[in-house]
Amino acid sequence: MKEIKVLDKGFVRLVETMGGDEGVVQAARVSYAGTSKGDEKDKKLIAYLLKHQHLTPFEHALFKFHVKCPIFVARQWFRHRFAAYNEISFRYTQTAEDFYFPEAWRAQDFKNKQGSVRSEELDHAALSKEFKAAVAQSFKVYEAMIKAGVAREMARMVLPVNLYTEFYWTVNARSLMNFLSLRADGHAQAEIQRFAEALSAHFAACAPWTYEAFLANVWKGSNARLDAQKEKACAPLSS
Ligand SMILES: Cc1cc2nc3c(=O)[nH]c(=O)nc-3n(C[C@H](O)[C@H](O)[C@H](O)COP(=O)(O)OP(=O)(O)OC[C@H]3O[C@@H](n4cnc5c(N)ncnc54)[C@H](O)[C@@H]3O)c2cc1C
Repeated sequence: MKEIKVLDKGFVRLVETMGGDEGVVQAARVSYAGTSKGDEKDKKLIAYLLKHQHLTPFEHALFKFHVKCPIFVARQWFRHRFAAYNEISFRYTQTAEDFYFPEAWRAQDFKNKQGSVRSEELDHAALSKEFKAAVAQSFKVYEAMIKAGVAREMARMVLPVNLYTEFYWTVNARSLMNFLSLRADGHAQAEIQRFAEALSAHFAACAPWTYEAFLANVWKGSNARLDAQKEKACAPLSS
């Protein structure tokens, strides 16, 4: 599993990974000059470390992702400072007509001021039509400005934040768990939740013991997918 599609045109692609569960165990056991003690004990150690917030060993498991997401999602993503970022530049390159169009519009949630709710009342088709026309008009002006000789760095000002961007994101497991706790949770915007779910799938595949221990000991959010996985991770083993 290398690339996971997200939203209409986005993705989270795992470029490379280093360390994994083994890297966490190695880092933890160096304290007393030890190494692996076998799968069962190593798995228990990972759960113990997370439960008791001995978090530095998780900084030795690294993930490099290539992400394509709308700019408004990237703005939220880039607030997470403990990671390395390199993003495509629309000063160097002229962007293609590559915008995110939501499948449905959500209404403003009046209980949670920053939230949104599904709505049957909104006229989804009419809103989408108007929205697409506005985006197309913006892109038309962008292209016309470039053609007229305006610099890419200025012409881009007319583009809306549903434009897709791409970046490389290298993050350690500790910081990734913080990201997932905040961004897979139901309080985060729905679009970034979908990206967090894709990250969680890569995480589960690359460091399964750490991911399981994260769900059992750290994850306190609400997300249908992660909650179901947590239930499985915490279920007593049937004999
Ligand atoms: C639902 C939601 C709503 C949000 N709303 C807003 C908003 O309205 N406005 C807004 O500006 N932001 C908002 N944010 C962004 C939020 O405040 C954080 O900037 C973002 O989630 C990154 O989290 P972080 O600082 O834990 O991550 P990182 O930057 O990756 O930091 C990881 C951890 O390192 C430690 N750390 C990092 N830097 C410092 C520091 N300078 N001093 C001490 N400890 C540090 C902290 O323990 C931190 O948790 C929102 C986030 C979420 C999830």
